[in-house]
Parts: sequence; structure tokens; C-alpha cells
Amino acid sequence: MAMILDGKAVAKSIEASLTERVAKIIQKGGVQPILATILVGNDPASETYVKMKGNACRRVGMDSRRIDLPQATTTRELLNIIAQLNNDTAVAGILLQHPVPDHIDERACFDAIALRKDVDGVTCWGFGRMAMGEPAFGSATPAGIMTLLDHYQVALEGKQAVVVGRSPILGKPMAMMLLNRNATVTICHSRTQGLADIVRRADIVVGAVGKPQFIKGDWVKPGAVVVDAGFHPGNVGDIDLPAIVDNCAAYTPVPGGVGPMTISTLISQTVAAAE
Ligand code: NAP
Repeated sequence: MAMILDGKAVAKSIEASLTERVAKIIQKGGVQPILATILVGNDPASETYVKMKGNACRRVGMDSRRIDLPQATTTRELLNIIAQLNNDTAVAGILLQHPVPDHIDERACFDAIALRKDVDGVTCWGFGRMAMGEPAFGSATPAGIMTLLDHYQVALEGKQAVVVGRSPILGKPMAMMLLNRNATVTICHSRTQGLADIVRRADIVVGAVGKPQFIKGDWVKPGAVVVDAGFHPGNVGDIDLPAIVDNCAAYTPVPGGVGPMTISTLISQTVAAAE
């Protein structure tokens, strides 16, 4: 029977320790740390994610400041708001919810976030430092996945890890984090040839494709550890989990696997920034 990598339970226990740390920050400095969240436009899924992040702040005793901007916001306007938040000493961390509308230069806006406030780990500078093994806030979703794998003591060193997806916030930093832990990493993407056979070699598979149940059950080697970062309507991820649960060693459920770990990592990094 496969082990469930229970992100919901691990995130809950992390939150308990964060609550104590936040109380100490408030005791020492007299102010509640704030996570500023910026949402541009009104994508319903993004609205839900921002709301969940704000709720998580309040659960651990922090505050969150929501900045909701209209769809027509320009890159310049967004850069101005980020500059204000960088200079606001009450704000410990800044989250710019991805994706922003197409006409905005998302990379320029991510990179305008001050490194010390980049609690979602989206800047090039933070990515570079993380990749080089220097202290930096990791991109929240892959960093949360690493915390989850470590919690369950999944062995990484020398293992074949296959990451399907190479996005700046997920696949690429995921691959670097696994590489830094001495896994042998293969990164796959939309132009990869022979994808199923590559995935079949993996001891650890990370699905970060953004397509419902794209990775099929018979692509996964028996005994592999399976991480599904995807989330789609109908509570399915990027991997056909029902087809692999009887054969794999461990897997992240959808929901309740990677999602809660993403939020707890964001909150945890905000607490660290405030400290
Ligand atoms: P993304 O930016 O759309 O990236 C998808 C990646 O998958 C790209 O690198 C793309 O390759 C690759 N891909 C697309 N079609 C492929 C194919 N046929 N074969 C192999 N690779 C293919 O998505 P993302 O932001 O990384 O998100 C990925 C998934 O994670 C989504 O389901 C999203 O909902 C989920 N997610 C979850 C959380 C969470 O907190 N739980 C956070 C972020 C994302 P190219 O680079 O070649 O286009």
C-alpha cells in the first residue's frame, strides 16, 4: 500500500510552530508582521488562492494587506505599487499572484520585489542564489514539495528524479532543488521526445504540466515516489493518481498534497522575513 504524503497534515503542524514564532515577533517589536498580496484582474482561481493565503496569515497571528488591482493595470502602475511596498517597513513580505494579465511584464514586476521581501521566491536573483546553494527564499511550491519529501524522509541522493514542466515558478526551481540534494535530475517539457519512457526511469516523478491527468499510470515505475503539483476542477492533478496508487511507494494526494504545502511555505518564509 502506497504511503500518502499528507501535505495537509504537515502544513498544519508547521502552522502550529509558526504561531509561536509570530507571537514572539509581536512581543519583541510590538507590531504584527504583514504579508502584502497583489492580485491583478479577477481570475476566480487566483482570487481563491489569494484569499486562502490571507486566511493562513491570520491563522498564525500575522496580518495580510490585500491590494486588488483592475485588469487594465499597466506594468508601470504595478511597478510603482511594488516600490511602495518595498519601502513600507510594516510589510514583511510581498506576494504578486501569478499569472498577471498578458499585457503586464510579469518578469519585470517579479524582479522589482526586494530580495528580502521575496517570500514567494519569484525573483531571478532569489532563484540564482537558491540554485547556487546560497540562502534565499525558495519558490513556494517546489520548496513546499521539498519540505514534504523531507518530512517523510524520502531519499533523494543518487535517485533518478524526473520533473515534467519547466516553468519559472515550479518546474525549473524544483529541478534545481532536487539537484542541490544530489538527485540525478531530468527536466521534461513540451518538446521532450519519448516522455513516457523518460518518466518510466524515475525513482521520483514530479508532475508540473498544467494538464489534467496528463501523466498516465503506466508511465510510472512500480515503487516510485509520485508528486503531483497540478490542481484542476474535479479534484484531479497532472497525474492519473487512481492508476498509480496501488503500485507506487508514495504519492501526494490531490487535493491535500502540494497545495497546502505551498501556502505553508509562503507563510513560513514571511515569518522568516519578519524575524
Ligand atoms: P505552466 O507555466 O503552464 O508550465 C507548464 C509546463 O509544462 C511548461 O514547462 C510546459 O513546457 C510543460 N508542458 C506542457 N505541455 C507538455 C507536454 N505535452 N509534455 C511535456 N511537458 C509539457 O504551469 P505551472 O505554473 O508550472 O503549473 C503547473 C501545474 O502546477 C498546474 O497544474 C498548476 O495548477 C499547478 N500549480 C500548483 C500550485 C500549488 O500551489 N498547488 C502552484 C503553482 C502551480 P514548455 O515550457 O515547453 O511550454
